[in-house]
Amino acid sequence: MNPIRIGILGYGNLGRGVELAVAANEDMELAGVFTRRDPATVKPYGANVAVWNASELAEHTDDIDVLVLAGGSATDLPEQTPAAAALYNVVDSFDTHANIPEHFAAVDAAAREAGHVAVISVGWDPGMFSVSRVYANAIMPNGADYTFWGRGVSQGHSDAIRRIPGVVDARQYTVPVPEALEAVRSGANPELTTRQKHTRECFVVAEDGADTAAIEEAIVTMPNYFADYNTTVTFISQEELDRDHAGIPHGGSVIRTGTTGKDGENTHVIEYSLKLDSNPEFTGSVLAACARACYRIAQAGETGCRTIFDIAPALLSPLTGEELRATML
Ligand code: NDP
Repeated sequence: MNPIRIGILGYGNLGRGVELAVAANEDMELAGVFTRRDPATVKPYGANVAVWNASELAEHTDDIDVLVLAGGSATDLPEQTPAAAALYNVVDSFDTHANIPEHFAAVDAAAREAGHVAVISVGWDPGMFSVSRVYANAIMPNGADYTFWGRGVSQGHSDAIRRIPGVVDARQYTVPVPEALEAVRSGANPELTTRQKHTRECFVVAEDGADTAAIEEAIVTMPNYFADYNTTVTFISQEELDRDHAGIPHGGSVIRTGTTGKDGENTHVIEYSLKLDSNPEFTGSVLAACARACYRIAQAGETGCRTIFDIAPALLSPLTGEELRATML
């Protein structure tokens, strides 16, 4: 069987993660990478990988079965995914939860019009965490949902710190409160405030002579980002930041606890947990599996937009139905 030909639009952290994931899957090959920057300045891991300018998107429709969009959710994907769905079958990791219905509608319209399939908002959250929530809720109608994130780097919170005057660089980790996790895992169904669930750890490089007390105050009182959390601020050198905080780890747990029994006497705890050394490499791996499903749905003659909820597990796997039944059931 011919490999599924994958294209990547946008070559940042996630674009690199998708490239590695495609290389790890024998039934896929990378056709090329599109970037809005000068292609000569973008260097994929694979020395022979073609790099094209994003303005040439319409010129490679015969070379690509599924285009994976690896741009940012804030401003790139709301424009790029509907536009690309007019040309290709597409997959994205749009993660602005509140705007997913709107994004779905725009992509669905474009994909249907062009006769393509789109799979949006896949990754881990939204993505694998979302699937876990749906399974747990369907199985246990009487219960409560919890999501804990971390320990992991929040790019948005790190950026917010970098915008404070006197800050050169910063890394922010979201950390679940161990006691809260334990209480939830015990099945006690605790009601937890934002502050009780997560803490925030900030590692900050300040300009020489900067007022570090003022920077710390600006961080811990920042509305929406830090004011509702117990936040610690540690000032370190750029060398320490580069040495000790270069990775992009993340993860977390989706937990649903609930009861069954005549009087609700039996408690059940469902937990799906991720500990990721590299957020973009894991997310890229989910995107690659979803590109396989996208390809198969398109091959079946369907069109329009899907989310992870619409994708049967077998469509994600390189194994045949027979192999799956023999080895994973
Ligand atoms: P990046 O900031 O690394 O990349 C975003 C885009 O920036 C790239 O596609 C690239 O497009 C552009 N870019 C511009 N200048 C540069 C440069 N110098 N180096 C690298 N890229 C550059 O973001 P991430 O890849 O880390 O994340 C992308 C999105 O993935 C996030 O916005 C998030 O929404 C989503 N995500 C979703 C997850 C989920 O679970 N669903 C989990 C993790 C991330 P171009 O090549 O065209 O210039």
